[in-house]
Amino acid sequence: MLDLTFEPPKPKVIQGAQSDWELVIGLEVHAQVSSKAKLFSGASTAFGAEPNSNVAFVDSAMPGMLPVINEFCVAQAVRTGLGLKAEINLTSAFDRKNYFYPDLPQGYQISQLYHPIVGEGEVLVEMGPGVARLVRIERIHLEQDAGKSIHDMDPAMSFVDLNRTGVALMEIVSRPDIRGPEEAAAYVVKLRQILRYLGTCDGNMQNGNLRADVNVSICQPGAYERYQETQDFSHLGTRCEIKNMNSMRFIQQAIEHEARRQIAIVEGGGKVDQETRLYDPDKGETRSMRSKEEAHDYRYFPCPDLLPLEIEQGWVDDIAADLPELPDAKKARLMELGLTDYDASVLTAEKEDADYFEEVAAGRDAKLSANWVINELFGRLKQDEKSTAESPITAAQLGGIVDLIKAETISGKIAKDLFEIVYTEGGDPAQVVEERGMKQVTDTGAIEAALDEIIAANPAQVEKAKVNPKLAGWFVGQVMKATGGKANPKAVNQLVAQKLNG
Ligand code: ADP
Ligand code: MG
Repeated sequence: MLDLTFEPPKPKVIQGAQSDWELVIGLEVHAQVSSKAKLFSGASTAFGAEPNSNVAFVDSAMPGMLPVINEFCVAQAVRTGLGLKAEINLTSAFDRKNYFYPDLPQGYQISQLYHPIVGEGEVLVEMGPGVARLVRIERIHLEQDAGKSIHDMDPAMSFVDLNRTGVALMEIVSRPDIRGPEEAAAYVVKLRQILRYLGTCDGNMQNGNLRADVNVSICQPGAYERYQETQDFSHLGTRCEIKNMNSMRFIQQAIEHEARRQIAIVEGGGKVDQETRLYDPDKGETRSMRSKEEAHDYRYFPCPDLLPLEIEQGWVDDIAADLPELPDAKKARLMELGLTDYDASVLTAEKEDADYFEEVAAGRDAKLSANWVINELFGRLKQDEKSTAESPITAAQLGGIVDLIKAETISGKIAKDLFEIVYTEGGDPAQVVEERGMKQVTDTGAIEAALDEIIAANPAQVEKAKVNPKLAGWFVGQVMKATGGKANPKAVNQLVAQKLNG
């Protein structure tokens, strides 16, 4: 585990006209379960399919159709709960949340209000080296997604696509433990990272596979601490919920705008209404969608089509035994190899990056391997807009380059040329070095011969360098040039010093 002393980050303070204000934020994240089939039907969940082509009779609410729970989706929720160190409820139950909307043919969503499958857990959110906060998870429940209304295909009509109807979602509800916009974004980033490591949600925010409802309230300094001591919500301000955010940048902007809007209301003598709002990124403001008074009465009741969901501890244990190493543990392990907090964070951001690095570093110098993966490989892939999975250079090839540097067969400068050759043309690095004569010249005789020639040709420069030792660098540069960058820099430096002082 990460063995660091953590300081909690400071809450964001906004100066109002009359007082300082602090932010309190709680997130409800909807994560689409990675599964080939839907939560209660065998229909495909493939993204981008022809509209209404992935719809089972039960998804379109044909009369008499019954939902059948997908065991894999349940396992994914359990896996997620375990990854968030949460309680797994061996008995949970599904409820109907009733409302009318054209993209919801059943007239209700099947969800888990009273007995969610996952209880309390936690997410460690780091805000910089040694600065972190634990955000508590209140619950995770399984529910169905709705379909999609399409209003922009025809001026007079709306259409509906039911492909997404019935796809499994996990709603991950945090406690109001988040204290600023950056922390909110960092929380979503961390949650997404864990879900991707677990393979329970692909976290594709553009496709809407991960979206957040952001609850924001403001309070005066000290109030949050009183809430923490008592868990009494009356110490906190009234919250507004900003719906359906699917970008880290917009989440931060929306929180900032919403907090300032609430401060203006309270300082103007008004009261914040509890309501659901939408963020408009073009205008940079949140606007009301519906207030709590006109909120839906969902008439929740246990879904009569589904028995309570009973799972066995042994099954949960099997899933637990099969969990992959998660980001915090992986990062800690990389830091134990001697990597900095920063390097370890960069390398563990995506599991495929960490896997790649570990293959390069296996049996090699970790720091040197990290430099080559982060600076050279990631830099080069970024230029080409390629992911690590698409890297033209394999971990074995990059490891081969690191070996050649470590053995001082090639200099650091030549290694960059070699990297470019292997990246663009492929090949075994050692063989490329051999074939193209890229080996470092460590033979002092050859270096000495080159240096002697330069000294003989530049007597004035030699005199100056004897008075001003800094000019020795010029000779080093000349030798490197004369040897096509292949001279061992250490050997060159030594010889230049010897000759100029001797
Ligand atoms: P609802 O059913 O109305 O959505 P929940 O109890 O599920 O209400 O809470 C929704 C979210 O609101 C949770 O993430 C919770 O942490 C957050 N929350 C509750 N009170 C506050 C508050 N005063 N300020 C900010 N967030 C809050
Ligand atoms: Mg809610």
